Amino acid sequence: MKLTQEILQSYARLIVRSGANVRPGQAVSLHISVDLAPFARMLTEECYQAGAKKVNVEWSSDEITRLHFQYAEEETLAAVLPWEEAKAKQMVEDLPCRIYIASEDPDALAGISPEKLSNVGRSRAKVLRPYREAIDGRHQWVIAAYPSEKWAKKCFPELPAEEAVARLWDAVLTTVRIDGEQDPVEAWRKHTEFISAKADWLNAQGFRHLRYRSANGTDFTVELIPEARWEGAGAVNALNGAFYIPNMPTEEIFTSPLAGSCEGTLVSTKPLSWNGQLIENFSLRFEKGRAVSCKAEKGQELLEKMLTMDECANMLGEVAMVPKESPVNRCGFLFYETLFDENACCHVALGHGFKEVLPGGNDLTAAQAKERGVNDSIIHVDFMVGSEDLAIDGVKADGTVVPVFREGTWA
Ligand code: ZN
Repeated sequence: MKLTQEILQSYARLIVRSGANVRPGQAVSLHISVDLAPFARMLTEECYQAGAKKVNVEWSSDEITRLHFQYAEEETLAAVLPWEEAKAKQMVEDLPCRIYIASEDPDALAGISPEKLSNVGRSRAKVLRPYREAIDGRHQWVIAAYPSEKWAKKCFPELPAEEAVARLWDAVLTTVRIDGEQDPVEAWRKHTEFISAKADWLNAQGFRHLRYRSANGTDFTVELIPEARWEGAGAVNALNGAFYIPNMPTEEIFTSPLAGSCEGTLVSTKPLSWNGQLIENFSLRFEKGRAVSCKAEKGQELLEKMLTMDECANMLGEVAMVPKESPVNRCGFLFYETLFDENACCHVALGHGFKEVLPGGNDLTAAQAKERGVNDSIIHVDFMVGSEDLAIDGVKADGTVVPVFREGTWA
């Protein structure tokens, strides 16, 4: 699929209409790189055509972010200034639709101390978290991608820049179901319907445990939170009922398992990119819900560091089902971007869980959600466990076993 202005226009429309689902009279906050000014203009116009009241553009530059971390003191970066807090307060009042365009160089922050990054993140989150929690479930948001040259070169180092960008665009368009033939908005309607039906089925089963097995050594059981729901594809803004799609692409159906209740071994099936570095061919052994040991052919130290980022970084916050037929998986390369890589196959995530899977979850603080079993951590790192032969069984409260996945796909 070759990128033309027309295709780009239909992508912008898809992001605004199907993704954020901007409703007349709503404010929009667009987060995008300064390098993508023409696409920002396109998105802004689409938002206004959808009836947006006002579009605010929040410009970013991953190169400048890197310079901040390179030169500025940790405490300077960690401080939330009064005007920043005022802006966060304003956001709670305006409840804008938020549109994020991911285009970063996966290596943008490589070599920056993970401690500095996490300390700055933690300090800022302490001040800004209440505002973020106040808008959870009460606004629409979407993350979609726009290949930059550095990102494309990371995926295809052997190709000249122009070709690498073309290859990455081709993959992005395929995974967001833009093929120049079918109407992408209609394609997404069908896709979200399929995912919702699968999520409904999982919810109706009421599984208490999931059991994973694969010839690669995966042998793992995880307990689920009885009242937690499986979700996928879309979400609904509780205030206005608007259906939106937070991630484009998306193939997963996910929930948060009961933190502190899983046993056995999970073997990763794809490399994991964390803070710009790779962890490869690794496995984790869990006891009483915590990863008690890990083994990696590459990135052992990094993996150990990740598991000790805070007290609950070694517990799971997410389990997700993705069949091996996923278009992301069929692309056959690592995107170095979670938005894509987590949609390649079945995965779990270490760290933070999703309070919104609990009934009334959006009104809970992270601490309250923790009491009900949803993990709380400063990290949320997805890693892939789906394989060609992965089998997943669901086990009900009465012991009934139901096949969920066979040979890496829906049973
Ligand atoms: Zn996920």
